Amino acid sequence: MIVQGGQVLQPDGTTREQDIRIEAGIITELGSGSDWEDDDFVDARGRLVAPGLINTHCHSNENFFKGCFDNLPLELWLLFSYPLLATPRQTPREIYVRTMLGCIEMLKSGCTTVVDFLYEFPDMTDESVGAAMQAYLDSGMRVLLIVSASDTVYYETTPIAMELLTPELKAKIDAEPIPSAEESLQLTDAVRRRWHGVENRLMVGLGPSGPQRCSDRQLQLSAEYAARHDLHLHIHTLETKMQAYSGHLYYGKTIVEHLSELHFLSPRVSLNHAIWLTEHDIELIAASGASTTHNLLSNFKLGSGISPVPELLARGINVSLGTDGKSSNDSQDMYEVVKTVALVHKTQQPEFTTWLGAAEAWRMGTLGGAKSVGMEGQVGTIAEGQRADLVLFDLATVPFIPLNNPLQQLVYCLSSRSVDTVVVEGQVVVKDGLLTRVNERDLLQEGTELGRSYVSRSEQAFELARGIFPSVAAGYRHAVGQEVGVDRFIGKR
Ligand SMILES: [Zn+2]
Repeated sequence: MIVQGGQVLQPDGTTREQDIRIEAGIITELGSGSDWEDDDFVDARGRLVAPGLINTHCHSNENFFKGCFDNLPLELWLLFSYPLLATPRQTPREIYVRTMLGCIEMLKSGCTTVVDFLYEFPDMTDESVGAAMQAYLDSGMRVLLIVSASDTVYYETTPIAMELLTPELKAKIDAEPIPSAEESLQLTDAVRRRWHGVENRLMVGLGPSGPQRCSDRQLQLSAEYAARHDLHLHIHTLETKMQAYSGHLYYGKTIVEHLSELHFLSPRVSLNHAIWLTEHDIELIAASGASTTHNLLSNFKLGSGISPVPELLARGINVSLGTDGKSSNDSQDMYEVVKTVALVHKTQQPEFTTWLGAAEAWRMGTLGGAKSVGMEGQVGTIAEGQRADLVLFDLATVPFIPLNNPLQQLVYCLSSRSVDTVVVEGQVVVKDGLLTRVNERDLLQEGTELGRSYVSRSEQAFELARGIFPSVAAGYRHAVGQEVGVDRFIGKR
């Protein structure tokens, strides 16, 4: 395939008119292709051609919960978004359609790769994970699907006020089956064998849910398995002050210090959120080569605080960007994330020479993401030898008129509305703003029906969550009043 006559974004943020030759999903040549022969041309005249963004943190299982919740911190929001009790099981078709809704939103807004940290209730199975994978396969999107795992009972993962939890609710929580570390690894193994490497764009990774949600043994088994099969691990780490407090309570040290002592940290690990890090935590992460994922809009919505990204970058830590799930953001538009990341850190200190801007945010959304999904040197930029994940923006649309600075306009001008064509692994998956491989209209219609049904089926789970709420709210208020060595809230009054 030849992508012809586009203004191709260069690593320095400028553009140059170039033709792109793609063979077997790889960019084999960049230049003037007037004498290149091929049957398959994409007319890119009047288009800005940029690498696809990489969304390194979301949860497709939340896709039916968009717009449902507000003004809840993570631990209270989890009670409803991830109910502990009476969660209705979704059918494979519901999972498929739900996942496809995310693919439609992401591909149409110029995101070509996603990390889907997948949960499923009341449990994960081959069939449920397979339904999500099938949606990624059919949509044309590139995915690293993370199989979540947790082997610990809820009230030992979060310091709630146990005296406020009724014996009836505690008994119900105790009666819920918890998969063992071995059972979770068996599922991961089956998923890996079936899906890892399919069409060069489906990947499988491990997802111990969070250090405090997993036994030390589960963390170690996960790290060993990942090393044995050359897979990546994602893990929620220090998203909230309550988690920072729980580290001191459960381990007598920070959660990152605990991970470091278990020899869990390595270049194949991405720490999701990484907000409540101490100076020593940052040193340990830098020494280990692990990445962090910065999910700013979700962190805003759940009032979690702000990750110290400028400090992480200054220490040489790889930082990538993510939207997080549909019930904590509630959008999957990576361009919103990139823009907000390029803005927020300017509010944290007045010395403007150290501010992050469009170039740094863009780098995190592309090359930072590539490293976090284990595709360093393969995606995230347009160059010979790279996999062809490209987004074409219509330069005849408002964000680009007049064209002054292509990169800064991509980042700051809501350019996702101008996406015209998307190519993943050398295949056109969006054309004229519509997905090419699926019928969007039918899927949206089905999503309306299935989504409404699922939300209404969740009412009993919400009712039980309201019963657990007081014990978690009291635990939350206690934890946020404690000293944990750092303060990652901004704009406190
Ligand atoms: Zn998450």
